[in-house]
Amino acid sequence: MNLHEYQGKEILSSFGVDIQRGIVAETPAEAVAAAKKLTEETGTGWHVIKAQVHAGGRGKGGGVKLAKNLEQVEQLASQIIGMNLITPQTSAEGKKVHQVLVTEDVYYPGASEPEEYYMSVLLNRSIGRNMIMYSTEGGMDIETVAEKTPHLIFTEEIDPAVGLQAFQARKIAFNLGLSGQAFKQMTKFVTALYTAYSKSDASLFEINPVLKTSDDRVIAVDAKVTIDDNALYRHKDYEVMRDLREENAVEVEAKESGLNYVDLDGNVGCMVNGAGLAMATMDLIKQAGGEPANFLDVGGTADAERVESAFKLILKDPNVKAILVNIFGGIVRCDRVAQGIVDAYNNMGTIHVPIIVRLQGTNADIAKEIIDNSGLDVYSAIEFQEAADKVQAVLS
Ligand code: GDP
Ligand code: MN
Repeated sequence: MNLHEYQGKEILSSFGVDIQRGIVAETPAEAVAAAKKLTEETGTGWHVIKAQVHAGGRGKGGGVKLAKNLEQVEQLASQIIGMNLITPQTSAEGKKVHQVLVTEDVYYPGASEPEEYYMSVLLNRSIGRNMIMYSTEGGMDIETVAEKTPHLIFTEEIDPAVGLQAFQARKIAFNLGLSGQAFKQMTKFVTALYTAYSKSDASLFEINPVLKTSDDRVIAVDAKVTIDDNALYRHKDYEVMRDLREENAVEVEAKESGLNYVDLDGNVGCMVNGAGLAMATMDLIKQAGGEPANFLDVGGTADAERVESAFKLILKDPNVKAILVNIFGGIVRCDRVAQGIVDAYNNMGTIHVPIIVRLQGTNADIAKEIIDNSGLDVYSAIEFQEAADKVQAVLS
């Protein structure tokens, strides 16, 4: 589950990470009230109005603006709330902004220039460990840094048996070129950030930029946080942070029907039982010259109702040119699945794309007969290769 910046900062703050303070607002009037309150609390006269959407690069897209007085707060908030924010990380249509975070301005001028760093904590799956990634090149997107100046990105692996060690936090502060008070603040920041990451069962905390102010405070200006869905049951207070408006509508609907669906960019819809078989099926589609339009695991019980909701989900995607159904009848019998497909097809009226059905396992032969005798525009196959050839044939 991805979180908004303001939610990520709330979590950070609850673990003692110093943050750029802010108040979320849904209307320009609320934004003005928020700015007044922040001025009382922090003394700041300037505020930043930040669009809250699940996408980075908001600054580049015009979703982060500095307001030097309350008039500008109102003006910028009304401009940003309701806008369609297009950033390098959104689709071409952009994302609708429903709320803004009004924050204190932390880039106040001082004796020296403020410094921006990059820092993230994430699970490195290839080594099976959590890792802190950091760089002196904060503020810009890390992919560009990785491409142009990879030697400026450092990593620190965390041994799960002992957790983050004090010397590691000091090493990070040292590599960032800090000394004195800033060095101390940075080690505190890193330690609290890692605690927040592990206690919240996150798979990502990305802070870009981490700011060192001219008076040597170290604070999180941005927060991109992903919480592991499988751990949400023990974080009821985070579960309510889910913003369905930000999630793929078809994926949300699939979850409600108990289907495991991930939207992809290709042209062949697939309906499969079991995640492993679904992965293999996606490979098969690629080999046949197609691109999978989705990942869809219908689970163990492929009855008519489930098959029908799965078809409906797949057909919502206008790019789908064919559907490949690949079901292994182990727990469920193939003939029942075949009947389910025929029933779903009949219930739905016409389906305008060809369907290739490969059923293997218990009663596969009877299943093939049911499909072949149904009189519907459905091709049946028993072998994997046969199914691939048919996909290739209908695409060309
Ligand atoms: P992103 O563009 O989605 O990554 O959003 P960020 O929260 O990182 O903000 C984008 C940029 O806005 C930052 O890199 C800063 O340069 C700038 N910014 C953020 N907070 C402040 C602030 O308090 N004062 C000023 N002057 N600029 C800020
Ligand atoms: Mn950022």
